[in-house]
Amino acid sequence: PVISTPPHALTSQVGGHAGVLTTEDGSLLIKPALPLELTFYESLQRDEAFAPLRPFIPKFLGTLKLEGEAKETAGEGITLEPVEGHKDSLVLENLSFPYSKPNILDIKLGTVLYDDSASAEKVARMVKTAQDTTSFESGVRLTGFQVHDNTTGLPVNTPKAYGKSIKVADLPDGIARFFPIGVPSISSPDSPPTDLPTPTNSGLPAHNLLPILQSLRGDIAEIREAFTSIHMRMVGASLLIVYEADWDLADAGVKKYLSEDAEGMDEDESEEESEDEAEGAPKKIPPPYVVKLIDFAHTKIMPGKGPDEGVLRGIDTVLSLLDGRIAEVQEAM
Ligand code: ADP
Ligand code: MN
Repeated sequence: PVISTPPHALTSQVGGHAGVLTTEDGSLLIKPALPLELTFYESLQRDEAFAPLRPFIPKFLGTLKLEGEAKETAGEGITLEPVEGHKDSLVLENLSFPYSKPNILDIKLGTVLYDDSASAEKVARMVKTAQDTTSFESGVRLTGFQVHDNTTGLPVNTPKAYGKSIKVADLPDGIARFFPIGVPSISSPDSPPTDLPTPTNSGLPAHNLLPILQSLRGDIAEIREAFTSIHMRMVGASLLIVYEADWDLADAGVKKYLSEDAEGMDEDESEEESEDEAEGAPKKIPPPYVVKLIDFAHTKIMPGKGPDEGVLRGIDTVLSLLDGRIAEVQEAM
């Protein structure tokens, strides 16, 4: 793609290294291309063995070189100044782009946090990091998340220190913090406080949160199934979960995509809805959530080596955390 406007930092980044950029309109991500990640995305497109995983990986549009930095010079207007050490970048679909108020969670998968290129010193450090955090025992770490405050409408970020500090027994609480049950503001005149559960100022009402959690669980079970036939080692990859925090849009999204007569969340289908998208028409209703795997900078394809057991353990942990949260939400209804 040709990107003529300088990209800017991704504001909704909840984990990882600084340096993830987004295009002017926010629809695409631009991330430094590390060799293994580029190889992964190219293999995914080419190799039919990866077909079951494709629906669960962000769209890959190609690579680009950031040729220079736009500088405003007196008299000359905008010029492009070459910058040292230019590397290729990956251009990926920005998963949070369709959302009005994206709640975003990055869950790092796997029990092994180093790859075979790591030095002995790094291996020792990463083994300790895994053992000191939830990674080693459960195969997951909550890397970071943002949840919108229903009162201010602004995202509230929970940084990596939280996910690094908690124990496996605290993971259900961590998941509940990302999927809080929203209740109408107690000061709202049309919703007098009755025997409602403890008021919160974030999250979706239980009747919308529940179908989202159930459908999400189904998708992650499909990811697990796809993984059993794919032989690779993933180090530091994540499940990225995004859901709509705007109550009206989430409600419309649940009705449109997750109710009994819903059309399903097939992406290609929804793209054909040109009629509703005529100029001046309201923004189309995004699917109420999305889950995909991201971050393949240390992923190696290893035919014949079997699936990554640590990643499978992590996916199983996520499935049981979702089961627990589903039961809690059902109880609150
Ligand atoms: P790093 O190697 O720095 O960990 P990641 O690929 O994990 O790089 O990206 C860092 C962060 O950027 C993620 O935690 C997430 O918040 C955001 N991010 C990455 N890829 C996407 C994507 N395709 N859509 C939306 N956000 C993304
Ligand atoms: Mn990452």
